[in-house]
Amino acid sequence: MLPRTLELNTWTSEKKCRKLVENLAKKHFTAVYCANAQEAADYILKQAENARSVGFGGSLSVADLKLTSLLSGQGKEILNHGFPDLTPEQRVAIMKRQQTCDLFLTGTNAVTLDGCLVNIDGNGNRVSAMIYGPGKVIVVAGRNKIVEGDVCEAIRRVKDKSAPPNALRLGKQTPCASTGFCCDCDAPQRICHVTTIIDSKPSQTDLHVLVVNEDMGL
Ligand code: SF4
Repeated sequence: MLPRTLELNTWTSEKKCRKLVENLAKKHFTAVYCANAQEAADYILKQAENARSVGFGGSLSVADLKLTSLLSGQGKEILNHGFPDLTPEQRVAIMKRQQTCDLFLTGTNAVTLDGCLVNIDGNGNRVSAMIYGPGKVIVVAGRNKIVEGDVCEAIRRVKDKSAPPNALRLGKQTPCASTGFCCDCDAPQRICHVTTIIDSKPSQTDLHVLVVNEDMGL
């Protein structure tokens, strides 16, 4: 892409990201504009200073920030059920402990421009921790997650762009993991069991949303 085109595209997406930050703030989220992923990582590290335990919801947006070893090096307990070589029982135990960790980090499958966080989950552990339990929740939302339409369009985004590649990534035996398209399956390994809409900040949850002017995650 030509430098001037890139500059203009970045300007347009910054306007959209800042509009989203404004709308999220109206809904009482702590909403922060980040020009890039590094700014998001720096914000999280600052917010993590007093956390003893940090939960990871399984998000690629968060994984891309590569915070695990940094936080672990600071002596924090890392609760990541995606670590290799865990037994099924260990994975479940970690997912349960994430519900009450000091700081929970996750992405979002979609966010509407007017400030609704929309997610589809298989177990429900990620979305439940987003809503209630952890001492603090930080959601990393790349600009590619912003939907200008309503919640229905956000759900469509998840089914079109997020769930099929996630099913493939997770090694699930679902139709979408081979075709790339959602067919609203009834496969035993379906990853779409729970749909949540966080319409405004849950009353007892310190929920921060970082709106990043870069594409992040699926
Ligand atoms: S409903 Fe089934 S086919 Fe559709 S995205 Fe979810 S797992 Fe894939």
